[in-house]
Amino acid sequence: MSSKRIIIFVGLPGTGKGTLSNFCVSRLGWHQLSTGNLCRKHIADQTEIGKKIDFAIKSGKLVSDSIISEMVFDWLINSFESTEVVIFDGFPRTVAQANLLQDFLKNQIKGEPPVVSVVRLITPIEVVKARMINRIICGNKSCQAGYSIDKASGFCPKVDGVCDKCQSSLVKRPDDNDSSISVRLETYHNNETQLLKAFEQAGFGVMSLDANVPIETLFDELVQAL
Ligand code: AMP
Repeated sequence: MSSKRIIIFVGLPGTGKGTLSNFCVSRLGWHQLSTGNLCRKHIADQTEIGKKIDFAIKSGKLVSDSIISEMVFDWLINSFESTEVVIFDGFPRTVAQANLLQDFLKNQIKGEPPVVSVVRLITPIEVVKARMINRIICGNKSCQAGYSIDKASGFCPKVDGVCDKCQSSLVKRPDDNDSSISVRLETYHNNETQLLKAFEQAGFGVMSLDANVPIETLFDELVQAL
C-alpha cells in the first residue's frame, strides 16, 4: 500500500478544519493545503486569479471548480512528491471537484496512488455561526493564523489584535459577516450529501468526528480514528 496519504477535511464553514489542520501540522509534521488560504493569497497579491475570485469570496459563494482544482493540482504536481501526508482543508467541496480529483490521482500521479481518507467534522450550526462571527485571522497572507475575540474560546491572541506567530495585525475575514455566512452554510448543506456519496463511490474511506469538543480531544480522536 502507498505510504502517501491525502486526508480530506469536510464540514460546515467554521467547524474547525483549519484549526485541526494547524494542530496536525505542528504535532505531526503533516502538510496543510487550504484552498481558502490560497484564494485569499491570490486576492492579496492581486493576481489575475485573485481579481476573478474576489467577489465570489466576499459574498460567500464558491469559486469555480476549474480554478480551484487547478490550484490544487499545481500544488500536487510541484510538492506532493516531497510530502508524506497532506490535509486538504476545504477541497473538494463539490461533486465535480471530487471527480476531478479522482481522475487526477488515477492518471497524473506517478507510482502507487495515495491512500485517501475523508474526515467529516460535525459541529452544531449555532456554534459555527458564533465562531465565524468571533473569528479574526492574521492579515499576513503567508500566515493567516486564526484566532477568536471570544475570551472563553481559548483561541485569543496573546496580545489583542496581534498575531502570536508573526506579529502582524489581525483582521476580520470579509466573508465572516451575516449574509456571507448564510450563503456559505446553505452552499455546504446543498452539497454535503452528494459529496459524501461521491467520496464513498470513489473508494475514499469516510469517518465522522464530533468537532464540538476541545481541540486536543479532537486531535486525539483523529489520530486514533486514522
Ligand atoms: P474557507 O477558508 O475554506 O472557508 O474558504 C473561503 C472561501 O474560499 C469559500 O467561501 C470559497 O469562496 C472559496 N473556496 C475555498 N475552497 C473552495 C473550493 N474547494 N471550491 C470553491 N470555492 C472554494
